[in-house]
Amino acid sequence: MSEIKEFKTESKRLLDLMINSIYTNKEIFLRELISNASDAIDKYHYMSLTNDKYEKRNDYKIKIAVDKENRMISIEDNGIGMTYDDLVQHLGTIANSGSLEFMKKLEESENKKEDIDIIGQFGVGFYSAFMVGKKVVVESRSPDASTGYRFTSTGEDTYEIEECERDKVGTLIKVYLREDSEEASYSSFLEEWTIKSLVKKYSDYVRYPITMEVSKSKPKLDAEGKEIEGEREEYQEEETLNSMIPLWKKNKKDVTKEQLNEFYKNKFYDMQDPIVSTLVNVDGNISYQALLYIPHDAPYGLYSDKYEKGLQLYSKGVFIQDKCKELLPDYLKFVKGLVDSADLSLNISREILQQNKQLELIAKNVEKKILSELSSLMKDDFSKYVEFFNTYGTHLKYGIYADYGMKKDMIKDLLIYKTLNSDKEITLKQYKEEMKEGQKVIYYASGKTKEAVLAMPQMDIMKEKGYNVLVLTDDIDEFALMMMKDYDGVEFKSIASSDIDILSEEDKKKISDLKESKKSLFDKMKEILKDDVSEVRLSERLVSSPVCLVSGEGLTLEMERVLQENPENKDVKASRILEINPHHELFKAIEKVYEEDEESLSKYAHLLYNQALLIEGMPIKDPVAFSKDMCDLMIKAAK
Ligand code: ADP
Ligand code: MG
Repeated sequence: MSEIKEFKTESKRLLDLMINSIYTNKEIFLRELISNASDAIDKYHYMSLTNDKYEKRNDYKIKIAVDKENRMISIEDNGIGMTYDDLVQHLGTIANSGSLEFMKKLEESENKKEDIDIIGQFGVGFYSAFMVGKKVVVESRSPDASTGYRFTSTGEDTYEIEECERDKVGTLIKVYLREDSEEASYSSFLEEWTIKSLVKKYSDYVRYPITMEVSKSKPKLDAEGKEIEGEREEYQEEETLNSMIPLWKKNKKDVTKEQLNEFYKNKFYDMQDPIVSTLVNVDGNISYQALLYIPHDAPYGLYSDKYEKGLQLYSKGVFIQDKCKELLPDYLKFVKGLVDSADLSLNISREILQQNKQLELIAKNVEKKILSELSSLMKDDFSKYVEFFNTYGTHLKYGIYADYGMKKDMIKDLLIYKTLNSDKEITLKQYKEEMKEGQKVIYYASGKTKEAVLAMPQMDIMKEKGYNVLVLTDDIDEFALMMMKDYDGVEFKSIASSDIDILSEEDKKKISDLKESKKSLFDKMKEILKDDVSEVRLSERLVSSPVCLVSGEGLTLEMERVLQENPENKDVKASRILEINPHHELFKAIEKVYEEDEESLSKYAHLLYNQALLIEGMPIKDPVAFSKDMCDLMIKAAK
């Protein structure tokens, strides 16, 4: 009795895409099917160790066979198998959003040909069989079922499911190859050497034997059992095609960078070498091996809430969990890899895993290891480090800020900044070492872009003094600095904060005397602007600009902007102080207006405040009023 069912819409679209793809790398279908077989064995093995219902076994195997006559290649495993429902759910539907995401990604991608390579990331690898197969048959039996089931599909709208004879648990997948065409020769997948080399290339470290009957020849023997010279006979023998020893179990010195990187690319479906790759082998209070990688490009979905961080977890080579999140702190969530420890018990449940002391120890170690790898990268290849930082720096800053700054001392030396005085990024240590005599704090300035920051009026005096300034353009930047408070005893200070202390005592006195003598003018201006600013005063820092805004204690204006992006914080406000440049012609003009034409002072004050807002890159409060004040003054000036 067989049943015809329809593929779910997304699955159908994906199938179309596979079948019609002009993708050159169709060979990855074998990798995907082998990886599914290996996952299935992992699952069976895990069950057999934790559940008495599953017979223990030690004959795990993934068997490849070809049938040239029928143009068929098959992959068979003795893993967990699939029930009727599994077949419908896992092969007929795509319950997860994987296929949709994958298609979206492909549609966005400029190079569709290459991007199909990452199919495995999206949990839709099975469908790649249709790139080479005109018909795919899956026969499977689960230990929980009393019979086997057969799934058959030609990749069109429907698939068929029926009961079938299957005496053993596991799955057999038969792919009937398409006819050869000008673009592609599918026949090559029937050749022994093609299969051998594909297994070596993509699946060498699969931990179960991948076997195939291969043809061999030996000298032909005569009736007495003596070799007949010059004559050989062919025979078939099952051969294991992969080397199986997990890479992470090897001796560190026997593993090359290339091997580490190849492993990463195959396991995590990436086309690019990772920025950092390392094998860790710890033998001590706790023993474990780990492979740790930092992908060249941010992993897909890293910035979405749904992104799942974590490392794969094995215990004595037995796969336990795909994304063990306890192994990575949030700020390193972009790291990929795996951990294998003999000290973890297999039988522990996921909940117990969360509070497992050993796991905690490993996680601490892993974190330290990653940071020390980064620190070496910074030393050995700074430009590569900059590349890393451009992609992931925000996460490190987040690490400083998170958990009340608990990790700041571990991370602070990994931060790099753009600065006023150099084109290259520098570390905080470097900044401190290069500070000018008399400079007491580490200055920083923030804004949307480096150009905008360098154009800030408050920057003038820094340039004049030759002080360097950290240029901050990341939303998290100021929050991270605030959390650090100081670097090695030297405080951070925004060049736009009110209490900047940069002039000589003598110059300061001049300005404060001037301010004293014009007290009534400033009081008057403050009164006019009382809704907008907490103070109007003479500036100690302006050189060429007429005015600027600085922030009083607490938040800076940039932090206000960042916080206000969240609607919950729309009332958050930094306190504003309007500073006027005592050396600027405009100041004299204001003095004159105040003495001769007090009426106009209000217009001047508002115009000045609005100008300061514009210079800060902030919107002015009332553009119509601003324009009217401006016109009035222009008309008056022309009279
Ligand atoms: P993924 O492997 O990422 O989950 P696939 O499209 O490759 O995505 O496979 C879909 C699902 O089909 C698997 O998660 C698994 O449940 C099931 N499956 C595929 N191949 C096998 C197999 N050989 N044995 C058991 N289950 C399988
Ligand atoms: Mg898969």
